[in-house]
Amino acid sequence: MEEFKNRPFFSFDRNYSIKTFFKEPNKYEELEKISKDNDKLISSGSNLSYSPLSFGENTLSINFKRFNKILDFDLEKKEITVESGITLAEFLNYTLKHNLWVPQLPGYPSLTLGGIVATNSHGKSCANHGTIRNSIKNILLFHKSHGWLNLSKNENKEIFELTIGGLGLTGSIVNITLKLSNLNAQEFRTKKNYVKSLKHCVELIKSKSINENSYIYSWNRADGSEHLGEGIIFENSPEAKKEKIHLVPNTNFKYPFLPFFSLWNKISIKIANELFLNLNKLFSINKREAFTKVIFPFYGKESYFYFFGKRGFLESQLLIPDNKIDEFFDQFRFLFNKHNPNITLLSFKNMSGEQKFLRFEDTKICMTIDYTNIKKNRIFMDEIDKVCVNLSILPSIIKDSRLGRTTFESCYQEVDDFRNKLKSFDKLKIYQSETSKRLGL
Ligand SMILES: Cc1cc2nc3c(=O)[nH]c(=O)nc-3n(C[C@H](O)[C@H](O)[C@H](O)COP(=O)(O)OP(=O)(O)OC[C@H]3O[C@@H](n4cnc5c(N)ncnc54)[C@H](O)[C@@H]3O)c2cc1C
Repeated sequence: MEEFKNRPFFSFDRNYSIKTFFKEPNKYEELEKISKDNDKLISSGSNLSYSPLSFGENTLSINFKRFNKILDFDLEKKEITVESGITLAEFLNYTLKHNLWVPQLPGYPSLTLGGIVATNSHGKSCANHGTIRNSIKNILLFHKSHGWLNLSKNENKEIFELTIGGLGLTGSIVNITLKLSNLNAQEFRTKKNYVKSLKHCVELIKSKSINENSYIYSWNRADGSEHLGEGIIFENSPEAKKEKIHLVPNTNFKYPFLPFFSLWNKISIKIANELFLNLNKLFSINKREAFTKVIFPFYGKESYFYFFGKRGFLESQLLIPDNKIDEFFDQFRFLFNKHNPNITLLSFKNMSGEQKFLRFEDTKICMTIDYTNIKKNRIFMDEIDKVCVNLSILPSIIKDSRLGRTTFESCYQEVDDFRNKLKSFDKLKIYQSETSKRLGL
């Protein structure tokens, strides 16, 4: 068993760091012993969450990296049971051989399935396929006080519901049984549509998301008020090809030296935006693209994150109700003109589902914004928080490491229900992270 004491941990956005402890068991008995010997625990996968979800002060992080086996596969039933530390790359290298996968996979190959289940993550086609919740059949959980528990819709239903998107607070997810879907595609056909404004973009995304086999999202400019919202909508549809896909399950985020200052500033953002837009307008509006490029858009482009340097960045992801979108855009534009924030990425997609507990899920428009980590951007984000509260917009807990308890409690209607149910399951609040403490969970 690997063990580290006082090792520095960073949230993926680098906005929070702390020296903490972690252990990496590779046997079930080791997991039981670690859990027995420590008072405060939290499970961790690849620790690639933007927010500090898998570590915290005076908490031991249990890393599930060595629990990465495929335990059972039933081709006829289209079901697979895996250990929770398996990465998406390891998982897909196995299932894609059988033209099967799970359509709700988030965008990087070294994320683990345990992390994805505990954050109820989603993929590119969330307008049609919703979040990972829709593909989960069974979970095997280990809890310091309750021991081994089987969770499903028929067994320990309440804990099953709390665990999906429950940020690891109900215990350690050890195995997951997933329902698989057909995917006879090793490539995607990508169509591009030019959009001139925020409003135009959202209207087009909504009309296109009706097509069941498409993965639709946008890239929009936010480098100046005159171009705000101008951009491209990408529409990817699966296409078959003879060669099989093989993904490399490593992570490219380990930089020995990060720049002291962010290389993303007003000038570099503007140049990158102009280039990206014009290259996309110039080159084929209808072309074939590799599976990895479409499903894992940042794979091979990790330098985007490196450019933020030592101070890192901030991300905000918001779910906006259809009937509030115009009002939101008016207020967003007003605040944008007032504060002139440095936004490096703006993107939209449509999402479907039902909001419950801590889950970032609903039938709404999903907006993603990346900022450099500087004071004026934080002020802008605080102003947007107030707009979220007023317009019933849902901010993501897993993406925004700066999100405060007041905004969170105003936007998440079911937080008290989650707290009460968790408390009656685990009075001692054994599983804790920086995020759970910040949000009072
Ligand atoms: C480049 C990149 C792209 C991304 N794209 C998307 C996207 O498209 N859609 C999306 O929804 N998200 C996306 N994410 C976010 C990502 O899906 C989640 O943050 C995911 O949880 C990270 O997985 P991880 O293995 O790093 O988990 P960690 O960061 O290690 O853990 C995340 C949470 O899961 C819990 N957890 C982990 N393992 C276990 C376990 N075995 N038992 C119990 N709890 C556990 C932790 O306690 C923590 O609360 C992206 C992240 C990155 C870095």
